[in-house]
Amino acid sequence: MDFLVRFWGTRGSIPTPGHATKRFGGNTSCVELLIDGVLMICDGGSGLRELGLRLTEQKGAPVEAHMFFSHMHWDHIQGFPFFVPAYSEKTRLHVYEVAKDRQHIKDMLHGQMSSDYFPVRFSDLGAQILSGNLTHGTACIDGVTVKSFEQHHPGRSYAYSFEKGGKKFVYATDNEIDLTLQNREASLLDPAIPRQVPDAFLEFISNADLLVADGQYTDEEYPQKSGWGHARANTVVDAAVAANVKQCAIYHHDPMHSDSVVDSIITRAQKRANARGSSTTVFGAREGMTLKL
Ligand SMILES: [Zn+2]
Ligand SMILES: [Zn+2]
Repeated sequence: MDFLVRFWGTRGSIPTPGHATKRFGGNTSCVELLIDGVLMICDGGSGLRELGLRLTEQKGAPVEAHMFFSHMHWDHIQGFPFFVPAYSEKTRLHVYEVAKDRQHIKDMLHGQMSSDYFPVRFSDLGAQILSGNLTHGTACIDGVTVKSFEQHHPGRSYAYSFEKGGKKFVYATDNEIDLTLQNREASLLDPAIPRQVPDAFLEFISNADLLVADGQYTDEEYPQKSGWGHARANTVVDAAVAANVKQCAIYHHDPMHSDSVVDSIITRAQKRANARGSSTTVFGAREGMTLKL
């Protein structure tokens, strides 16, 4: 079985091109999964543009993709109008979010292409765009089991897990898990103590082969940014270790963090995992990085 994961956008909040972000990348959220030939895409940040270009270069069958949106903040949808395959009548896009109303996601994608914001109308896209059904939070798509989990974020966001053939991938971005900790006050006073992550989240990510998780802030930054919807990298590490995750990619890098700042965050996160005696591998998600599960 083939289970490939590729990062097309790893930055949070706003695209951050430039010399200082060259290694980890400046494009916003977008991760490609290719599971036995089935194309799945997590979020449509600016990284989606380059994925689209790659897909159009490939000869063969028309593009068919299943696109899962964590939520509708701009850094997760802004690549969609620049996704070249969406302009081809041969393309089929299944778009998913967790909502009571299946039309909601199309309305949101449509909204960012209204004429005040963008020159091309959503209705002029050639592709067949179909709202997928995740109203009950789970789905089985071409043999891949997809589950969702509601996260703590302004306006809500969802994590998704993808499982097939004994492999498990979890995408969990824009999640202020620190606000849900059972020992929150204590962990703020003494950042070294292990953070008690809610059981429901640990269960959702348990034994993942790869967890991609929002770890935007350092412990020092977090008190000024509490309530903004993002996690401390060290909290993600504690969750990954407690849930026996094999590999944990720190994701949604802060636009203010240069490559060297991200390096230092990752070094500290790795030390924290090692200090717990854990076998969990921790690394920083990098644009262009490909992993085989
Ligand atoms: Zn975001
Ligand atoms: Zn957000």
